[in-house]
Amino acid sequence: MKDSADHQIATFAGCTPAGRRFHGVERRAPLREGLCSAGEYGPDQTAGRFYPVACVALEVTQRCNLDCTLCYLSDRAEMTYDPPLSVLFARLATIHSHYGPGVSVQLTGGDPTLRKIEDLEALCREISRLGMRSCLMTNGIRASRAALTRLAAAGLDDVAFHVDMTQERKGFDSEVDLNTVRCAYIRRARGLGVRILFNTTVFADNFSELPALARFLRDQPEVAFVSFQMQADTGRGVLRERPDMITQDSVMRAVEEGYETPLHFDAAAVGHSRCNRYANVVTAGGRATSLLSNRRLVHRVIDALEHEDHAQDGHLDIRDSVRRVVVRRPLLALRAGVHLLRCMLQLKAGLLRGPVRRQTVFIHNFMAADALDEDRCASCVFMVATANGPLSMCVHNAQRDLHLATPDRVDGGDRPLWWNSASRDLSDSSDLPDLHDPGQAALKKLKGRLRAKRKETS
Ligand code: SF4
Repeated sequence: MKDSADHQIATFAGCTPAGRRFHGVERRAPLREGLCSAGEYGPDQTAGRFYPVACVALEVTQRCNLDCTLCYLSDRAEMTYDPPLSVLFARLATIHSHYGPGVSVQLTGGDPTLRKIEDLEALCREISRLGMRSCLMTNGIRASRAALTRLAAAGLDDVAFHVDMTQERKGFDSEVDLNTVRCAYIRRARGLGVRILFNTTVFADNFSELPALARFLRDQPEVAFVSFQMQADTGRGVLRERPDMITQDSVMRAVEEGYETPLHFDAAAVGHSRCNRYANVVTAGGRATSLLSNRRLVHRVIDALEHEDHAQDGHLDIRDSVRRVVVRRPLLALRAGVHLLRCMLQLKAGLLRGPVRRQTVFIHNFMAADALDEDRCASCVFMVATANGPLSMCVHNAQRDLHLATPDRVDGGDRPLWWNSASRDLSDSSDLPDLHDPGQAALKKLKGRLRAKRKETS
């Protein structure tokens, strides 16, 4: 696994270990090569073909105002300092130099809203200035309407609310109960020009509610993206191994049951099929229909878009490529248009009851920290920015303390400056810090397993 991590760090720096630098569309090469060697680069594959990575997480704090039973953070997270803006700006510059404009940067943590709103505004502005997309990943507790309005004005593109029973919010006994929270969050973000996403961790205690939850999310016209993330044995959370009943297959079936239609998760791929499953639907008035029902047509459209892809950077310019396909492949464009029309007609009475919206459905299968699959890590589409470069989120989750200790280098003008998570400020020392021993920490600084254990013994 170390080799894979080293390779990813080298490619994040914009070069192969042998020194070849990537520019323009060649930025897609490392992901494409990873998927090819895993046997996952078929006619359905969009990753590495149209974009160099799906998203990169930028962890702006390790602090959180919840204590999720499946939290992926380190036991030491609450004992660290937030990275100064100069460090985060340097990481953004590295993300941009490697993946180019167009990449989605997830402002995450911990919960990013625990930072000052001015810091988040500055990050949104910088991401926008670099031509990248920003997504605020939050549990929503501090994401007030006023805060979201300010962030939208600063260029925020998306907000992803994480709401589920792993968070043990007081007064909520089921996912159905939590729908009041979800509705409140939708109202806060509605009309701000920001796409609304919802993340749900799938675990034993909410698995039976999955169809009902999927149906609820299907019926929210403001929600553009719905992600189901399967329980993984990683991080500080008190829950560990995934129960046998939760598999990619069982989650797909439960989500389809909720959407009341087949979702054709095998028609188009976003990265490795054991990591991600992707569907796209149109919804209206309590009905949904899959846009990917004609697998052959989907593959022909992917092929045509690839041939008409004249992007200069790492990301497909979808509007430009569709325009070219319409002009050069009118028959295919006509077939796609007829297919779209048929999908709309399948919404039947729903068309009279509500607005027609497109919604993406995603199932994400994080790996256990002690069972990382090299192929999947080498073709990861969900990276996290570290001091040394990007890593697959699964690799990063398995090595969090190592990355918390690694100093970031920042350009200090005439000399380099360094920052690590054990200190508040930049310094001229690049020494590895002694991280706080969580065993010695006060109870209020502990979460997850260590907190539960401490409470048990005190
Ligand atoms: S984060 Fe893990 S599960 Fe997700 S795409 Fe990367 S390797 Fe796969």
